[in-house]
Amino acid sequence: MDQAEQAERKSGYPILGGWPLAPPILEEEVLSSWLVRAALRHSCTALALTGDLWPGWRYWCSDPDVSLSEERLSRLSVRSGISEQELRDTLLRLFIDGVRGESPGSPGCYPWILCLGSRNRRRAGGLQYCPNCFAEETPYYRRHSRLSWHTVCARHQTLLRDRCPHCEAPLCPHLLEPPASNLVRCHRCRRMLSEADALKGPRDAYCFQAFADRVLVEGHGLFGGQQLKTSEWFYLARWITGFLRSAAMHPTSHAQHFLRELGIDIGWLIPPASGLPLEMLPPYERAQQLSICWRILQAGPNRLENAVMSAGVPPSMFAPPQGCVPTLVDDLMKLLGEPRCRALPRPAIVVPRSPSSVLKMWHRLLRKIQR
Ligand SMILES: [Zn+2]
Ligand SMILES: [Zn+2]
Repeated sequence: MDQAEQAERKSGYPILGGWPLAPPILEEEVLSSWLVRAALRHSCTALALTGDLWPGWRYWCSDPDVSLSEERLSRLSVRSGISEQELRDTLLRLFIDGVRGESPGSPGCYPWILCLGSRNRRRAGGLQYCPNCFAEETPYYRRHSRLSWHTVCARHQTLLRDRCPHCEAPLCPHLLEPPASNLVRCHRCRRMLSEADALKGPRDAYCFQAFADRVLVEGHGLFGGQQLKTSEWFYLARWITGFLRSAAMHPTSHAQHFLRELGIDIGWLIPPASGLPLEMLPPYERAQQLSICWRILQAGPNRLENAVMSAGVPPSMFAPPQGCVPTLVDDLMKLLGEPRCRALPRPAIVVPRSPSSVLKMWHRLLRKIQR
């Protein structure tokens, strides 16, 4: 911190270079949402505000809600007059660490955090909102707008949306410009995000969401009678959703048998249009996977173990996610047996791709070009 900033801090907010119109941080608001609202309040763009605050740092090209160095946090606190702790609480770091536990993470991609898919300042996704909440109160993005297990608005029980209902653009509030004064409009077509049909959210997806929130807060969660640490519970859920993704794309007789043992019809599984991981899927596709995951979790460890033993599902369909494998999942994976040897590669024969594979490529391309 330089001398000028120290003087600013001693003098107190909002004197000396502070933001005179900095809005208060709203309940559970993420940092990026508050920064955009602060910029629009001062009739400037979010890029101009952060460029002045942190010169030389391309803040909006990275994930703006994950973490902030102490130096940058201190500078932001001085300018805005908001305490460092209150600003720290807007970040997702605690959520990421809670869910991940001791596991090392891969940079740029965090389990259970929606992936922004950034290219420069443009994004392919990563944020979600409830149209009813946007219509009824100050529109802003809460922490759960970035969490992949959230698919239903707790207040309205409606499915969240991750795109503009008018032009299908992904949500990029940081690209809003004055005269926009709040976050209610789409950055691209300028129409109201609140003007959208509200679809009812699946009940089981909401049960999963509410339970996962509790696991995160309490530091542990029950699976049947077994108590799992937060990171173990999320790992188990991720392991199951990974299987559901494989089963949706390859509904083999073994996968059908496994799900039938747990009282689930494989017909309920709709393959993700893009085939992408959970953190990149739209809310309705995540809600569908998490609803079925909730049913499997409800079945408990004994029924899951019996289903694993009797169905003969190949281990490749239960690929372990990245991270430390909890004992419970490790034991279940041992029941699956050793992965089978791969057949020797055959000479390449050029054949047309299947229609489903072309469709997947098309949806991935759409996600990229709609940025
Ligand atoms: Zn709502
Ligand atoms: Zn739009």
